[in-house]
Amino acid sequence: MDYELRVVVEKVSVSSQEVLKRDTLKVYDIKSPESILELGLRHEEQISLLEKIQNSVLAVQSTLIKTGYDVCPRCGDKLKKMGFTPSKFHAVFSDHKVRIQKHKCLNPDCKWQSTPSTASVFGTCIHPDLAKLQCEQGALYSFRKAETNLEQLTVHRRPVNNHNKIKLLTNEVGATLAQENLKPLATPKGTAIAQEITLQVDGGHIPDKDKDKRSFEALSAVVYRPENIIEVDSHHRQIKDKSCALSAQDDELATMKLFTLNAARKQGMTKKTKVTALADGAQNCWSVILSLAPHCKTLLCILDWFHLAMRFQNVRGAVEDAFEKTLEGVKWKLWHGKSDEALQKLELLMNNITDSKKRSKLKKLYNYLENNQAYLVNYEERDQQGLSYTSQVAESHIDTIINDRFKRTKKMQWTHDGAHNILQIRGMITSNEWNENWQVPVISALTVAA
Ligand SMILES: [Zn+2]
Repeated sequence: MDYELRVVVEKVSVSSQEVLKRDTLKVYDIKSPESILELGLRHEEQISLLEKIQNSVLAVQSTLIKTGYDVCPRCGDKLKKMGFTPSKFHAVFSDHKVRIQKHKCLNPDCKWQSTPSTASVFGTCIHPDLAKLQCEQGALYSFRKAETNLEQLTVHRRPVNNHNKIKLLTNEVGATLAQENLKPLATPKGTAIAQEITLQVDGGHIPDKDKDKRSFEALSAVVYRPENIIEVDSHHRQIKDKSCALSAQDDELATMKLFTLNAARKQGMTKKTKVTALADGAQNCWSVILSLAPHCKTLLCILDWFHLAMRFQNVRGAVEDAFEKTLEGVKWKLWHGKSDEALQKLELLMNNITDSKKRSKLKKLYNYLENNQAYLVNYEERDQQGLSYTSQVAESHIDTIINDRFKRTKKMQWTHDGAHNILQIRGMITSNEWNENWQVPVISALTVAA
């Protein structure tokens, strides 16, 4: 026996259960699948079916759209219904026309007529679920890549997903978030108070739109409670709950310091909290960290062992094999918290190297350690006690938050504001706050854009 499947939509009276209208949306011939490709509906067909169902829903629902006119807004006279006007509506996977009720003033001297649209009624013709997706794509990938990704998802190219539109919306949503993030947070109370928090501050580079400059810096701070580092497997750990602060503003760190304080408070920092801070040694990172001192109980600053070890790896080539052990010895001293001895040993080694290029490499390492000597701790001891001293235990934030999105490409260069706004969305996604909090900024941005 051969079968076909009909996808039918029925409009039914709720009280009498009488079928008022019945539409066959699609008929599928059901055959034995010759291959996995023929099993079920294909991608394009699924999107097309959703489009048809969506059209059926909209046809009925759109007649119920309240346009907000009870009387004539010009003269106050009664209104008469005057048919429907089609208006654009962009859903997640498909584009539609909805029919909205038109009105006309009954006063022959007035002649007022309504010109309703989805935008005049709702403030926008784009469903926020689509705008959410556009924002996520625009925050995670280049705007052109975002356009392509959305095109692949919905099979067809849709003008609503054009890269310029994604760019405008993403920027607007980011600007709303940036504004929101400037509001100071209250000090946490009760069970929200954290005994200890860890803070990692790092910097990334963003290609500059200003042709005279190559790049500018953006800073990222990630704050979490140490107990929230969980082991995924023996090689990977993850931070279960974290808050982010991200700024690309050129304002002598004012925004960054405020965002970092807010992120720390989100994680429960009060004047009773012990803060452990890790940074790569850059002066502006320490400045951000030190600005927390008046707001916590203690602030321990540690030169991130991950970055320190990287510096050693970078100068390895500058020393002959014979001196490699000495260099390792310097690192061993640092690991055991003997920074004075380490610096002495490094200076001796430096003086033994005649090649000026290689020597200047070692000099750089020496200066780096000397500048950060106040932040060198006994790493071995902290390791034994299970205390934090390296950003390596968790994912590399600076790469996932900043560098992955702002790689140097010919096409994409940034202004401080543009980068700053995108970073706010990336921060929310990274700290898992986006899915809960996207609606307010997205809907506000959509209605501003319309
Ligand atoms: Zn009127």
